Amino acid sequence: MSVWDVLIGQAPVVEILAGAASAAAGVTATDARPAARASMTHSWLFTGPAGAGRSMAARAFAAALNCKNSPPGCGECNGCHTVLTDTAADLRTVRPEGLSLGVKDIRELVRDAASAPTSGRWRVLLLEDADRLTDQAANALLKALEEPATRSVFLLCAPSVDDVLPTVRSRCRVVALRLPTPAQVAGMLEHDGVDPAQARLAAQATMGDADRARALATDEATRLRRAEVLRLPTRLQRTGDCLAAAADLVAAANADAEAANTTRDDAETDALKTALGVGATSAGTTAKRARAPKPGAKARALTVRGATGALKELEKTQKSRGRRTVLDSLDRALLDLAGWYRDVLVRQLDAPVEAIHPDHGVAVAEEARTSTPEQTLRRLEAVLRCRRTLAANPGLVPLLTVEALTLDLRTG
Ligand SMILES: [Zn+2]
Repeated sequence: MSVWDVLIGQAPVVEILAGAASAAAGVTATDARPAARASMTHSWLFTGPAGAGRSMAARAFAAALNCKNSPPGCGECNGCHTVLTDTAADLRTVRPEGLSLGVKDIRELVRDAASAPTSGRWRVLLLEDADRLTDQAANALLKALEEPATRSVFLLCAPSVDDVLPTVRSRCRVVALRLPTPAQVAGMLEHDGVDPAQARLAAQATMGDADRARALATDEATRLRRAEVLRLPTRLQRTGDCLAAAADLVAAANADAEAANTTRDDAETDALKTALGVGATSAGTTAKRARAPKPGAKARALTVRGATGALKELEKTQKSRGRRTVLDSLDRALLDLAGWYRDVLVRQLDAPVEAIHPDHGVAVAEEARTSTPEQTLRRLEAVLRCRRTLAANPGLVPLLTVEALTLDLRTG
């Protein structure tokens, strides 16, 4: 299985990347695919909507660049394997977990980029969600993009070219990924052993987002969550219903965030406390601390201050990560809702297109019968507006924004 096989429906992209990897490996055009004539460059920007597989494509490319076989990207050798499992010494991945990617992370990345690869052929700096770069961080990156080290390559990922500063964008070769078609996603799920009908429904309901489709096809909690969200439009008769529905949506998103982060937050805090030698909870740590030499009073004061600062910093990172998880979860719910209203509109206009949520056809038909296309369009627009508002203002209180939405969707 080659590294490119995971890139569903991205044939043109695979051709470009495989060609560049061949060129980088010095494979001549006669013994490689025609695209091997494509050249290698030091900065790449992978764009595409969520679920298109931006970072998967970047990682496949990173693997191919350090592959030991020809044509590069075998997926089997040590070079490929260590990159794919994120254990390669020459790969550094930066994945912002909070709402933004700060200058500190980028400075470290840039420092790394300056040194030659140790075991592989290329030092790869993979920056997921480059759209979250702060301006200061983007400027720190710019210098490295302008004067790249001979054997370093930057792989940036962002939803679109407009999501990164023009100065950064202009120094990158853009690789645009598309969402695969639902049929392609269904094919992938079937290949992985999902029942064909289930695979089709999951692919259709997630509109080609392969990651979400897989979750929907294989995870019961995701299925229940979607069903709950899609029941929401039918329970918005009175103001009280609307406020309750908004509270439910936000509570579910908060629960998602808690489920995703709590264990990890606690482990991180514990590890940091252990490292700093302050108030760690495990018995082993206390024993280690007891054996450590006692610092002088002044040094101790400094240590305590440093530890408090480090813990505060970690708390800030965790808060930001939690907030992002809540917003991501809400966004998925809103996307499902938008699909539902779109189905209603399709039904009202008798448009010859497939439904996004065919398993909710009865409720959709009822809504189509009891409302006008103008009302549906207005509601669909309200959902999309809410998505935009939350995306553009991560500092807003989500509940108020979602309440404004459910009141807009009221049917009574
Ligand atoms: Zn390989």
